[in-house]
Amino acid sequence: MFVDSHCHLSYPGLHERLDSIRAEMAANRVDAALCICTTLEEFDTVHALAAAHDNFWCSVGVHPDTEGLAEPDLQTLLALARRERVVAIGETGLDYYRLNGRSVADMEWQRERFRVHIRAARETGLPLVIHTRSASEDTLAVLAEEGAGQVRGVFHCFTETRAVARAALDLGFHISFSGILTFRNAEELREVAHEVPLERCLIETDSPYLAPAPHRGKTNTPAWVPLVAAKLAELKGLPLETVAAATTRNFEQLFGVRVAADAHPSA
Ligand SMILES: [Zn+2]
Ligand SMILES: [Zn+2]
Repeated sequence: MFVDSHCHLSYPGLHERLDSIRAEMAANRVDAALCICTTLEEFDTVHALAAAHDNFWCSVGVHPDTEGLAEPDLQTLLALARRERVVAIGETGLDYYRLNGRSVADMEWQRERFRVHIRAARETGLPLVIHTRSASEDTLAVLAEEGAGQVRGVFHCFTETRAVARAALDLGFHISFSGILTFRNAEELREVAHEVPLERCLIETDSPYLAPAPHRGKTNTPAWVPLVAAKLAELKGLPLETVAAATTRNFEQLFGVRVAADAHPSA
């Protein structure tokens, strides 16, 4: 069985065809998924997915790229994190990829938002789902300052270097690989994946984005997470079943949930 540790089933293009996606998940032995929140405005929709289905859980958080919507404060995050089936804080982190003419110094609001999420993770004991893009140094620095040794979590959709992977592992974090592992130009990332210990690996789709080969460019769904697992298995020279079992166990341990082997989603 497989678990998609990061998907956006609340997004248009996926949300309205949830029944068929759940049927495809069952057909591909994808038994569970973590539905990720990126704005406070969408939290209710994301949470409803987890509340309605035994094999879905959700997070609460505001993505670093979210601008012009509600800014999360600690009390709000703590209140929402107490809701049933909320098992993670995020996605949160830093993203300097689209500065839109601003400097890194101008992005202090992102770093402050990230700190608020780390405090919420510290207070609740829930793991962080970290998004980092073109900002790994600051991401690690803020994590170390604000949460050193007191927070756990995962660097999702990992695309960083071996050194960043090492630093994340040293902080006790997991590393989640996406369909990017299957992309032709991702040779360096495949080397990183080869080296990350299996007991710290997760797999994800980041649906609707980043569909793995041979579906690249299409709308991704959790049903394709086995293709990520297959690539990881190939890189590690392990049977697919070993990677499926390990990444499922890692997911259960990190998020404190139990994935039922017989909980195949039915449409
Ligand atoms: Zn992300
Ligand atoms: Zn995401």
